Amino acid sequence: MNYNVNKKGYYGEFGGAYIPEMLYPNVEELRQNYLEVMAEESFQKEFRELLKDYVGRPTPLYFAKRLSEKYKTKIYLKREDLCHTGAHKINNTIGQILMAKRLGKTRIIAETGAGQHGVATATVCALMGLECIVFMGEIDIKRQAPNVARMKMLGAKVVPAISGSKTLKDATNETIRDWINNPVDTHYIIGSVVGPHPYPDMVARFQSVVSEEIKSQLNEKEGRENPDFVVACVGGGSNAAGAFYHYLDKPEVGIIAVEAAGKGIYSGESAATSALGKVGIIHGSKTLLMQTADGQITEPYSISAGLDYPGVGPMHANLFASGRGEFISITDDEAMQAGLELCKLEGIIPAIESSHALAIFETRKFKKDDVVVVNLSGRGDKDLETYIKHFNL
Ligand SMILES: *Cc1c(COP(=O)(O)O)cnc(C)c1O
Repeated sequence: MNYNVNKKGYYGEFGGAYIPEMLYPNVEELRQNYLEVMAEESFQKEFRELLKDYVGRPTPLYFAKRLSEKYKTKIYLKREDLCHTGAHKINNTIGQILMAKRLGKTRIIAETGAGQHGVATATVCALMGLECIVFMGEIDIKRQAPNVARMKMLGAKVVPAISGSKTLKDATNETIRDWINNPVDTHYIIGSVVGPHPYPDMVARFQSVVSEEIKSQLNEKEGRENPDFVVACVGGGSNAAGAFYHYLDKPEVGIIAVEAAGKGIYSGESAATSALGKVGIIHGSKTLLMQTADGQITEPYSISAGLDYPGVGPMHANLFASGRGEFISITDDEAMQAGLELCKLEGIIPAIESSHALAIFETRKFKKDDVVVVNLSGRGDKDLETYIKHFNL
């Protein structure tokens, strides 16, 4: 079995490019060029150098001794929380800004929900001196003031989306509209392994540096490249895609994807797409998404803004449908407890997204000798307010 993308842009039955005709030239230009550009020696050199000197890669693979003792298995943390800007998202935006430059683009657009992807995009635009416009729902702008300030400090223009529910999907609509109107000079940086082909594949390739590093780092520490399990949280799925990438076709490595169950899978307030989703089209891609009986996308909920997404990328939809991946849902409370536990046991304050991945050890048992790598996708500084409220700190 091959769990990576095929030539037509599909993972099993999922993926493809379901886009309005007016967007076709933009997406087609990218599709025709992305693999060739990424294969260029000069591209690889610049990408690798920036990952090293600007992002701070390789990020450590850290053996979490006290956590391992508590759960009676060998737990390693891949420290994406130590990346510049505090999470894995920068790996992708660095890759895409270099892609945009190679394609002669001078203007960058992006949409953002909580603002994390907006900040990562504004960061690389500042780095390269390119114009940056970030669309963001009007409600999200109010909810996420610190990230809005960061984007502005980094030189980006933040444009409110004032239609519909004034949140992420409305910002996405605005971004697509802008791209249709500016097909020649503009590149749209998508922030996860979602969207029409080739985005999920391109983003997965940029993030695949994560599992590339895990392989050599684990070899150093354990004398083997393959862990028994690799675990990651899934919003759209990009940090998970990066952590799983080089293990997709290695059946001896168990793949565990962790979704946000919010206040409970069946509470009506969750983002557990694998449990609740049906096949549909979102963001130009055929995948699993949460929707009403007549196909309207339902509003997701999670305490962590990064997991608050009504779909998953097509790679993950296929990992679920094929049974290659084990999917686990974690509630808000379980995630918050696991986050606090990592603080106490290892001195690391994780992003609440990453805390979902850590929470599986309470219920999912592993053998004593199992090597379990958890992708610690981000750090918790941005979540302090939420931790304070939850624990009355
Ligand atoms: C954005 C974000 C996520 C979720 O996005 P994916 O594309 O699923 O990785 C997870 N963790 C952190 C820290 C994030 O910022």
